[in-house]
Amino acid sequence: MHTQRMDVSLQLAALRARMEKEITKNLLLVQGTANYIAIAPKITQEIFAKYAKGVLSGDNLLKNLGAAPDFVMQFVYPLEGNQKIIGINYRSLPKQWEQAKKAKEIRDMVVAGPIKLIQGGTGLIGRAPVFTENNGRMEFWGIVSSVIDVEKLFAVVGIDDSNLDIAIRGVNGLGNKGDIFYGSPQLFTDKDTIHMPVMFSSGSWTIAAKPHDGWPKTHPFTLFIHTLLGLLLTVSIFGVYRVVKRDLTIQTIQENLNQAQYIAQLGSWRFEHSDGRVWWSDETYRIFGVDRDSFVPSIESFMDMVHPEDRKKVQEALEISMNTCAGYAVDHRIIRPDGEIHYVQERGETVCLVSKETPTHAMGTVLDVTERALAGEKLRASEEKMRAMAESSYEAVIIIDINDNISFWNSAAEDMFGWKAEEVIGQQMHPLITPQEYHPQIRKGMEVFTRTGKGPVIGSVSEMPAIRKNGEIFYVERSVTAFKVRDSYHAVGILRDVTERKRLEQKLQNYADRLTLASKAGGIGVWEWNLITNSLTWDAQMYRLYNFDPNEFNELYEAWQSRVHPEDLQDAELSLKQAVESTGFWESEFRVIWPNEEVRFIKAAALIRKNNEGKTDSLIGVNWDVTEARQKEEQLRLMATTDDMTKIHNRRFFIELISREAERSIRYNRPFSLVIFDVDKFKMVNDMYGHDVGDIVLKAIAATAKNALRDVDILGRIGGEEFAVGLPETDINGALLLAERLRLAIEKAFVELPNGEIVDFTISLGISTLNESNTEVDILLKHADIALYAAKENGRNRVEKYNETKNE
Ligand code: GH3
Ligand code: MG
Ligand code: MG
Repeated sequence: MHTQRMDVSLQLAALRARMEKEITKNLLLVQGTANYIAIAPKITQEIFAKYAKGVLSGDNLLKNLGAAPDFVMQFVYPLEGNQKIIGINYRSLPKQWEQAKKAKEIRDMVVAGPIKLIQGGTGLIGRAPVFTENNGRMEFWGIVSSVIDVEKLFAVVGIDDSNLDIAIRGVNGLGNKGDIFYGSPQLFTDKDTIHMPVMFSSGSWTIAAKPHDGWPKTHPFTLFIHTLLGLLLTVSIFGVYRVVKRDLTIQTIQENLNQAQYIAQLGSWRFEHSDGRVWWSDETYRIFGVDRDSFVPSIESFMDMVHPEDRKKVQEALEISMNTCAGYAVDHRIIRPDGEIHYVQERGETVCLVSKETPTHAMGTVLDVTERALAGEKLRASEEKMRAMAESSYEAVIIIDINDNISFWNSAAEDMFGWKAEEVIGQQMHPLITPQEYHPQIRKGMEVFTRTGKGPVIGSVSEMPAIRKNGEIFYVERSVTAFKVRDSYHAVGILRDVTERKRLEQKLQNYADRLTLASKAGGIGVWEWNLITNSLTWDAQMYRLYNFDPNEFNELYEAWQSRVHPEDLQDAELSLKQAVESTGFWESEFRVIWPNEEVRFIKAAALIRKNNEGKTDSLIGVNWDVTEARQKEEQLRLMATTDDMTKIHNRRFFIELISREAERSIRYNRPFSLVIFDVDKFKMVNDMYGHDVGDIVLKAIAATAKNALRDVDILGRIGGEEFAVGLPETDINGALLLAERLRLAIEKAFVELPNGEIVDFTISLGISTLNESNTEVDILLKHADIALYAAKENGRNRVEKYNETKNE
């Protein structure tokens, strides 16, 4: 009878709705787990367990959750009782492999079973593929699977509570084509059973039902009523089904996802294309910072909260998904009503009818990654800063983790060791750059570091040998610091190549040793002058060289200045300045005047020392006394140029001087004259007073002549009692005047002997002068000599000039 048929149908529709709700809800939890891993593919057992625990703690029918990256089961929850499946490769289980492979191929969840489980009971297995996004490309990560307890499912939906006989077919979600797995197969062959589909994602079942007690006897109905009731039935059943399903599904999905989502900060949403309604999970409201009671989620209200700069890409992602009935992934920012900016990762999918043209709904997840994004940003900023600093460093900067693996290697390290960063990143550092004999000691230190973040070298500066790529061993000074990032220790080492420094230190030591010996043996004083503090440091020998009382010495540059001969100070300081500014080496000689007026000759040499910026910061130098040598030289020089008795230029030097002067005069066309004079009747002086008095007379003549002459005139003794005078800038007339003055001065001069006797003397003078026809000093001397002879001839004590016409 039709009334009863309608009752059965309504009952079955409700059962179907509850069944769909339960299956969908549980499969959604599996899908949710897959979505979560898609967002966080670097999952650990710990994180997986935390998430799975949240999923399984709610009201659900899942016996367990597993995840198999690259088809190898690696994460299982609960672990207890499931250990043996860890490590199992899907590829080695033909039946499961087929299912898992299919999930990967169709990129959708695949439902297997119900099947008898080894551990007892019946299970429906959901397998969802996980795809991660890598630079816009979707890459397969693996499979997430879960077993739905089918017995529990039937209990929850109350399959036995009805007064209906029920059978279900559709093993592996194959609907009408699938095997019968529940109830009597007879129900599918009987003609009077009511059939209804159970739809869930990626498959369906078919239920067949009829009353326990069979249908009542049939009554004849008119065709019209039959048809009308049939229509009514369909509409009613569908209405009941829809209402029951939606309310139950949405409500329970929400409840069951809540805890897992809260833990994972993962929200989910659903958008119905038919009416534009949007459903959000509790966590989605929390992520968006809006209140469930006052905020109405919609595409528009969602887009309003998307950061303006990200709206375009979100819009595009949604549109593409809608137009292609495909999944999408988009990372963007939202601005919450309180103004806070949050970073979210969205994964969603548009579900279409089989025709793949009409979208029915879209669903997806939203993960709040603000903390991670901000932490990442901060980390990136500090990493970049660190990287920039490390790159600009002249010192090698190397970072290793607790396993001694290199994670950072700057360009100075590349230069120092000869290894490129790309060659060493990820390699163990110590075996690479330290000599073999240090390895046991390093291993011990690294063990401590791995456990505690401390170690024998952490926080210290030390020197040790290291190896370059080419095998060369060199010395480094290293300073090591430890730091902690995400629960793990790292060590940063700063290394400086000290080979050169060690070499210089050795060299300096050698110098110092040699200098010490030299100064002990050779009276060398050592000094150091710090230009920054202007302090001058002297050793004991320096005090002796300058005749300074160490207690009086104020360690200032001015102290040195005060001792230097005023005539030599300017030259010494000028050369010092040049050395500091350019040459880098100072060498000088100057006289110093001791407090007792004694003058000493000091030879000085210094090396300029520069700081790292190339600026001179100090000088280190030596002084030694060269007085004796200088005095000897002076003596030799005087001997070579001076007439011992009269202290005027000797003949050799006089001729050298007038030759130079004559040359200069010719070159510049200037006048130059020469006077030669000879003592008159000198033999008589000797004869009358003796040779010694003769000498005194010669000295008196030299002194008198010197007095009578200008500074520029050159006076020399060119023979026994013969003298000569070179007269620069003087023509014949000037020479005549000067000669006359000289003659008079000597005529007036006299020598008074000890006994009071007066010795008078006179001279005769001859003059010659340079002209066009006479440019040679030899000839000049000869001509003057000729003129002198004329003066003697003409009566002595007189002046004659060389007369060309007459003397030719
Ligand atoms: P005059 O030149 O006027 O013709 O007469 P003179 O007596 O000066 O003659 P002459 O030039 O021939 O003699 C030079 C003498 O000067 C000869 C020599 O003994 C003497 N005489 C030369 N050199 C020295 C000297 O260094 N000391 C002394 N005491 N006599 C010297
Ligand atoms: Mg003579
Ligand atoms: Mg004479």
